[in-house]
Amino acid sequence: MKNVADYFGCMVFDDRVMKSRLSSKVYMSLKHTIDEGARLDETVANAVANAMREWAIENGATHYTHWFQPLTGITAEKHDSFISPSPDGRVIMDFSGKELIKGEPDASSFPSGGLRATFEARGYTAWDPTSYAFIKGKTLCIPTAFCSYGGEALDKKTPLLRSMEALNKQALRILKLFGTEAKYVHTSVGPEQEYFLVPKELFDKRSDLIFTGRTLFGRKPPKGQEMDDHYFGAIKPRVEAYMTELNEELWKLGILAKTQHNEVAPAQHELAPIYTTTNIATDHNQLTMEIMQKVAQRHGLCCLLHEKPFANVNGSGKHNNWSMSTDSGTNLLSPGETPYENAQFLLFLCAVIKAVDDYQDLLRISVATAGNDHRLGANEAPPAVVSIFLGDELNAVLEAIENDTPYKNAKKTKMQLGVDVLPKFNRDTTDRNRTSPFAFTGNKFEFRMLGSSNSIACANIMLNSAVAQSLKIYADRLETASDFNSALHKMIRKTIKDHKRIIFNGNGYDDKWIEEATKVRGLMNLRTTPDAIPHLLDEKNVKMLTDHKVFSEAELKSRCEITLENYCKSVIIEANTMLEMSRKEILPAVLEYEAFIVSAANNKKALGIDCDYETKTANELSRLVNSIDKSANELDNAIQNVSVASDIIDEGYMIRDTLLPKMSDLREPCDEAEMITAKKFWPFPTYGDLLFGVR
Ligand code: ADP
Ligand code: MG
Repeated sequence: MKNVADYFGCMVFDDRVMKSRLSSKVYMSLKHTIDEGARLDETVANAVANAMREWAIENGATHYTHWFQPLTGITAEKHDSFISPSPDGRVIMDFSGKELIKGEPDASSFPSGGLRATFEARGYTAWDPTSYAFIKGKTLCIPTAFCSYGGEALDKKTPLLRSMEALNKQALRILKLFGTEAKYVHTSVGPEQEYFLVPKELFDKRSDLIFTGRTLFGRKPPKGQEMDDHYFGAIKPRVEAYMTELNEELWKLGILAKTQHNEVAPAQHELAPIYTTTNIATDHNQLTMEIMQKVAQRHGLCCLLHEKPFANVNGSGKHNNWSMSTDSGTNLLSPGETPYENAQFLLFLCAVIKAVDDYQDLLRISVATAGNDHRLGANEAPPAVVSIFLGDELNAVLEAIENDTPYKNAKKTKMQLGVDVLPKFNRDTTDRNRTSPFAFTGNKFEFRMLGSSNSIACANIMLNSAVAQSLKIYADRLETASDFNSALHKMIRKTIKDHKRIIFNGNGYDDKWIEEATKVRGLMNLRTTPDAIPHLLDEKNVKMLTDHKVFSEAELKSRCEITLENYCKSVIIEANTMLEMSRKEILPAVLEYEAFIVSAANNKKALGIDCDYETKTANELSRLVNSIDKSANELDNAIQNVSVASDIIDEGYMIRDTLLPKMSDLREPCDEAEMITAKKFWPFPTYGDLLFGVR
C-alpha cells in the first residue's frame, strides 16, 4: 500500500468497484440513477446492497450507517451492525436494499426549527446515490439526505441537491438557445480549508478551547504574524508528518487532497483538494474537517477549525471556488475559442453578476455564524459587504459593451457579441486582488467569505439558486425573442448597466470602500449574524427560493430560527466559559501572585528594605482583581437578561449589543493581569505557548 495510485479510493464504493461487482444490467441501471436522477427500483437496490455489504465486510466493516448532515452543521451517524440472527443461534451478515435506500434514525433531538412540531416527529434518511458510499473505521457510510415525513428537508444536502437541479434546469434552457449540446450542467467546487494546529497537552489545559473552540482570553505574544515568515514557509517535521498521514487518510476515501502550505498566522495551515461536483465536494469537505481533527490527535495535536481561535492573529476561512460545466466538461465560465462561445460565456458571467447583486443578502446569510462575525470586515478577510472583483481586462470588456465604445485592447472598433473573440483571461491577470469577497479567477469565481468551520452547502445552495434565477429570467426573455442576437446583446448591456454597482476592483479592506459601497452604491452591509439572518425571510428571497423549489417557506423559517439559535447558544456558552475561567482560574491565580508579592513586601519591610516595586505591583494587581470581579458580575447579569428576550431575533440583538461588549470588558483586565502576573502563577497556556508550541 505504498503507491498512492494503488490505494487512492480503496475505501470507496466507487465506479470501479461497482463495475466489477455488479451485473452489467444492475450497473447500467444504477449509473442511470447517478447521472440522470432516474428512480432506483427495488431489485436493483437489493443487488447494490448485497454487493456493498460483501465489499464492506471484505474491507473490515462490521456496521453501516446512513451518514447525513443535519442543521447542526456537522455530520451525523448512527451505526447498525450487519448482524442478523440465524436459526442455529449464530448470525449472518445482512443488508437489504430497503436498508440501503431508507433509514429512520430517531432524530428528534436534531434542530428542526419548528418543522417537526408542525409536521412529523420522526425523520427519515434517504440514500443519495450521486455521492459514493465509503468505509470509515469499521463502518460503511452511506451518504443520505435527511427529511421529515412531510418531506421537509431537515438537512443541508437536500436543498443543495435541489439547488443544483434548479441551476441545471435553467442552464440547459440557455444552452439550448445557443445550440450547445449538453445532457446536464452541474456546478463544481474546490474549497480551500484553513486550520490551526496546537499541541494537544496545551489545548487540554484551556477550557475556552475545549468548550468553544476559540480562546476567550490571551495577550498577543511578543511575536505574531508581523514578520510574514510563516506564510508558505518550510513545513516543520511534526506538521509534515501530520499532513502526510492526513493526505493518506483522505486519499483512501477518494478525496482529491492536492495542495498544502503554511498560512499567514503562526501555527496556521491550509489544505485544498482538486475541485469536484458540488454535492460531492460538500461531503468531502465535511469528511476532511472530521479527519483533520482525528489525525491531529494521533500526532499529539489539536486541529482548530474555529474562524477566530486567537484575537489579534488572522483567523481561518474557506475559499469556495465555484464554476458551472456541462457533462462533456465544458466550463461555462471559460471564454471559448469562437465568438459564439464568448457570447455564451458573457451571458453566464452576467447571470452571476446579476445573481450576486440581487441576492447579496443571501450570500452574506449563507456564511453567517458567531465565529465568522469576528473575521468579516476585520481587515483579514473580506468585508461584510458583498462585491465582485472582475479584473481590469474583463472589466474593460464589459465597459466597452455597456457604452458601445471600442474595447481598449482590441484592434476592432466595437465589441460585437457573437462576432469578436475575447481575450483569454488567465489567472495571472484576474487573481491579483485578495481582498474581494467574490472574485473572478480566470474560469471560476472564488467566494471568500466562508468561515473555516462552515459547511460549504449553505453558500452553494444560495449561489446555485441565485444564478438559476438570473438564467431563468434570461431564458424566459430569449426563448420568445424574434431576433436572438439583438435580444442577447440588449440583455447583456442591461445587466451590466443595472448591476455594475456590485463590481469593485479596488481594495476591499479600505474603510472608504465601505462608505462608498453603502452610501453611494446602496449595497448592504450586514455586519453581524443577527443583522443578516432575518433577511432570509424577506419577500424577494422567499419567492426566489420557493419558486425554484429549493426551500419551502416552512423550511426557510426553520433555517432562520436555527441559525439564530445557534448564534445565541454559541455566544452564551462563550460568556459562561469566560465567567468560569475568570472566577475559578484567573482571579485565584492573580490573588495568589498578589499574596506572594505582599508577603515579599512584608519580609522586606521587616528588614527595613525598600519595597516600592512590590507595593506598586500589589496595588496594580488589586485594581485588576476588582475590575475583573466587577466585569464578571456585569457579564453574569447580562447573561441572565438574555433570557427575557421576546423571541430569537430579539435575543440575537441583545447578544450583539450587550453580551459581546460585556465579554470584551471582562477580557481586557484579564489580559492585562496576564501581562504582570508571573508566568508560573498563570493558570493556563498563553498565546505564545499555543502558537509556537509545535516544534
Ligand atoms: P489560491 O490561489 O486561491 O490559493 P488554490 O490553487 O490553492 O488557489 O486553490 C484553488 C482551488 O480552486 C482548488 O481547489 C482548485 O481545484 C479549484 N478550482 C480550479 N479550477 C476550478 C473550477 N473550474 N471550478 C471550481 N474550482 C476550481
Ligand atoms: Mg483562494
